[in-house]
Formats: sequence, structure tokens, C-alpha cells
Amino acid sequence: MPVDFEDRRLQPILEKVEAGVRLSYDDGIAMYRSSDILALGYMANLVRERLHGSTTYFNVNRHINPTDVCVASCRLCAFGKKAKDPKAYTMSLEQVWETAGIGWSEAVTEFHIVGGLHPELTLDWYCQMLRGLKERFPQVHLKAFTMVEVGYLAQRTKISIRETLQRLKDAGVDSLPGGGAETRFFATECAASSATTN
Ligand code: SF4
Repeated sequence: MPVDFEDRRLQPILEKVEAGVRLSYDDGIAMYRSSDILALGYMANLVRERLHGSTTYFNVNRHINPTDVCVASCRLCAFGKKAKDPKAYTMSLEQVWETAGIGWSEAVTEFHIVGGLHPELTLDWYCQMLRGLKERFPQVHLKAFTMVEVGYLAQRTKISIRETLQRLKDAGVDSLPGGGAETRFFATECAASSATTN
């Protein structure tokens, strides 16, 4: 039965997905800009079932949130707090490493590490945190930092995104989480603030 998407711009992409044709950069942009979440999910599931049938994979992870202090104020967020908020927290390196060990078992395969955009924690601090985790848990995959955190660290360190990613990778990051819907917000805020200050 033919499938009709609400976002008609995705229809040609569906044809490619069904035919197993590699998608183009423009297809990626069209999907990024679309809010037709059901269409996107439908196409993703077609590929998933083609590759893996009805088998589903999952991992056993532990979440580490080194700080909830954040300079941004995303409307969607129930996590970030301003530095002066008495309920805000920032872990020391030792606390991060200790938190990683809480509830530890050999079944844990990943640490999922995300936090706020802290105005003072440096890229070096995060690299030290990552190295410490790798030393203590060498077999655990480190999935760390949404793109908005990477962008903010790059901006504060005054180096490129590429170099920031390289330094995080060298320190132990194995992959980045898929989150970061706030990235667009942050980019808009940065553009607005640099327009005001220039
Ligand atoms: S950047 Fe992340 S932690 Fe900060 S306010 Fe936005 S969603 Fe919350």
C-alpha cells in the first residue's frame, strides 16, 4: 500500500529509502528541516528492519551529569540551572569518577556523559575527567557531550570545533550522544549576542 507523508518533500526520499539508494546531502538537510516525525521514523524503521530484522539491540549504561550549571536558558529544559541557584551543583573530578563506580558491574558497557554549559569548567578539565574514567574503566565506551556542549567548549577555548572534537577524542571520547536540539537555540543566541556586542 502506498504511503503518503504529511511532509510531501519527504516523498522522493522515501522512494530512495525503499529502493536502498544512498541519500544525498540535500536529502539529509530536507529531513533535518522536516517536523514530520512519523515520516522520519517510518523511513528509519524501514532501514532498521532491512538491516536487523526484528532483532533489537541495547546497551547497559550509566548516566553521569558532571554539572547542571548552564549559561543557556532553553525553554525545553528542566535540567540546567544558573550558577547562583542554590540548588545548582558541579562535581569535582573525584566525584565524577566516584559516581561512575556507583552501581558498577561488568554488565555496564557505556557511560553517557552530558551536562550544562558551565562558564568556568575548561576543556582541559573535561579531558582530565575523560582520561580518569578511561584509566579506571578501560573497557567502558564513553559517549559524551552533545554538540551544543562541544560548540560551547570550542567557543570558550577559542579553537575550532574540529580541534575540540580531536582533543576530546584523544582524551577518551568514543562517540557523541544524539541529543542537542538546543544547538539551534544556542547558535541563535550566540549570533544575537555577537550582533549586540559588535
Ligand atoms: S544547553 Fe542543555 S542544559 Fe543548558 S539550558 Fe539548554 S538544554 Fe538545558
